[in-house]
Amino acid sequence: MDLEGAGHQAIDKICDYLQTLEEGKLVPDVKPGFLREALPDNTPEDGEKFDDIAEDFERLILPGILNWQHPMFFAWFPTAGTYESMLGDLYSSSVSNPGFNWSCSPACTELEAVVMDWSAKLFHLDDVFFNSSRIGGGVMQTTASDSALVAVIAARAKYQRRHPEVPLEKLLIYFTTATHALGVKTGLILGLKCRALQVTAKNNYALQGEEVSAALEEDRAAGFHPFVLIATIGTTYTGAVDRIDEIGPITRNNGLWLHIDAAWAGVALACPEYHEACYLNGINTYADSFCTNFHKWGLVNFDASTLWVRDRSLLTEALDCSPAYLRSKQSDEGTVVDYRNWQLPLGRRFRSVKVWFVLRSYGIEGFRSYLRKGITLAKQFQILVRSDPRFEIVTPPFLALTVFRIRPPSDIQTDRSDADINNTMLNALNRIFHRRLSAKDLFLTSIDLDGIFCIRLAIGSQRTEERHIKKVWDILDSEVEPAVNEWLGSNWGSNTLAD
Ligand SMILES: *Cc1c(COP(=O)(O)O)cnc(C)c1O
Repeated sequence: MDLEGAGHQAIDKICDYLQTLEEGKLVPDVKPGFLREALPDNTPEDGEKFDDIAEDFERLILPGILNWQHPMFFAWFPTAGTYESMLGDLYSSSVSNPGFNWSCSPACTELEAVVMDWSAKLFHLDDVFFNSSRIGGGVMQTTASDSALVAVIAARAKYQRRHPEVPLEKLLIYFTTATHALGVKTGLILGLKCRALQVTAKNNYALQGEEVSAALEEDRAAGFHPFVLIATIGTTYTGAVDRIDEIGPITRNNGLWLHIDAAWAGVALACPEYHEACYLNGINTYADSFCTNFHKWGLVNFDASTLWVRDRSLLTEALDCSPAYLRSKQSDEGTVVDYRNWQLPLGRRFRSVKVWFVLRSYGIEGFRSYLRKGITLAKQFQILVRSDPRFEIVTPPFLALTVFRIRPPSDIQTDRSDADINNTMLNALNRIFHRRLSAKDLFLTSIDLDGIFCIRLAIGSQRTEERHIKKVWDILDSEVEPAVNEWLGSNWGSNTLAD
């Protein structure tokens, strides 16, 4: 077959894969090193037939894929791909392009600037964040981790310009004990000290204003200079939302940059009914930078992280370096944006195409309906969990995320009373339960919440319907009893797993 034919065939194969996903397994059944064993040690000396290459994708690669687009995928957070976004990626590949300057392909820059404004409006961000404001603006980054890193670099540069006398080792990055690992990583990369402010069950793992004020007082008395705070809307563990309404005035009055990481939950700002819960007013009033990922719950395949800043000059003052070969008449005249100065690398993917395709194809109402459907399904799941005394919801559910665990049934035949079953034993029971689920082709993420072993269920695959919620519930329901028996047989877990 010629390559053009192979191209048409690829589209058919991709459609087949996605349409028949549900019939296949969710979790791959492979061992570490499986692919090295199956592949030759070297690049072939002479080129191979494309048919054979494409066939090996199906034969060797697909069996090693955890099927994130499967309707029964509820692990971590979703990365909801759509045909529109895949086609967008394909078209953008066809003009394969590093897009670093306006002049190296004007449409790459201009489409991104427009799509970022569409998105800012979709999420009801303040006008100051629009590219058309020429003050703030939006840029697409690879991931939320990059977005946070870029924001902290800009914050550091701003702080150093204002306080040149402060040595780097006295600077301090604030985040919380529930912040995504990107907080710690940013500190590692930049070689800066960090403080993870403790968040607790008492406040449902959300950061409160008074904790920020207390930390500021303490750290400043010790000679440190906190200069940035990474707050989260929808933490990875439990979907907690930091109190932006309380934190915002404190960071503003104390000269700290406020970066808001809403990687997963931020897209919910498309729905007016979640504005309050996501502190839209706080974002619009206080955020110096705000990030959400289309590539999680926003119908776009990986990667498409969107970052907005209140003042674009703070990005470019931190990141602009323009040797002669990167300068152009248009940039020197200030008539265009050069996105390379809004990010770490020089080159960049043409990601705005796929977001543009998705937003046009779904429209604002379609985008909202998809989010609302996921939230409704999550509510149905929560009703099932709440209706069964063998289960408990551990933290208040937010949007399409539920954090739960099992408890031993009260009629359990043991010589201990329910009250005697301590947390260590309960954790052992839940570990056994969680392990048993994987054998049933169900892949859920577990977390350790202050020593409590919990299971997360996040909904967001484009193909998930009510019947899949029933199915996941049936699996959970049927595994409680065997898990409890295994647990009892192991003397409440003490014979098997250490806590
Ligand atoms: C998933 C997640 C991230 C990391 O996302 P990347 O885009 O892969 O860096 C960051 N923050 C939160 C709250 C997340 O849920």
